[in-house]
Amino acid sequence: MSGREIVDTVPGWLHRAEGEMLYRYAAKGVGPLLEVGSYCGKSTCWIGDAAKETGRVLFTVDHHRGSPEMLPVADCYNPDVIDPVTGRHDTLIHLRRTLERADLEGTVVPVVGSSGQVAPWWRLKVSFAFIDAAHDRVGVMFDCESWGPWVHHGGWLAFHDSDIPGIASAVDRARDLGFELVDECESLKVLQRS
Ligand code: MG
Repeated sequence: MSGREIVDTVPGWLHRAEGEMLYRYAAKGVGPLLEVGSYCGKSTCWIGDAAKETGRVLFTVDHHRGSPEMLPVADCYNPDVIDPVTGRHDTLIHLRRTLERADLEGTVVPVVGSSGQVAPWWRLKVSFAFIDAAHDRVGVMFDCESWGPWVHHGGWLAFHDSDIPGIASAVDRARDLGFELVDECESLKVLQRS
């Protein structure tokens, strides 16, 4: 199986056309790929397939403890990702199952930690970075400023949910940092570093 063959069965909020666009840009370029915000691995299926087919690696960063919009009564609450033993939000096992079913365990490396824990230690240039983690203005701005500079010149930086004002601000910030908007689909924006 591939990521694309199972992606419709993976929980998450990504339209197929957005996934296809992620796949197209992720498959270009040379070098490792990065995703910030894995959840259960829906977008990981698309980007992971691109990495696998081009013989590269995808690092996907997530603390797997959920975010405010995933709390009970919030819009994105999903009781299936609550660990029955601890009662806590835990999407790591779901991501692992997705990677196994998609035959992507040899391609995708889950990095378990928050963006704030991992970003200060990151030292690797990437050809493509997809940011779909914190959805609040402060969080996504941190992600933009922390991860954007690791995209090499000519590489791509993509944001999901850019219709949310805080994320739109981060897209504007990316433009200040030398990225140019090159494509969009639904709430997905793709920028290229000049
Ligand atoms: Mg999203």
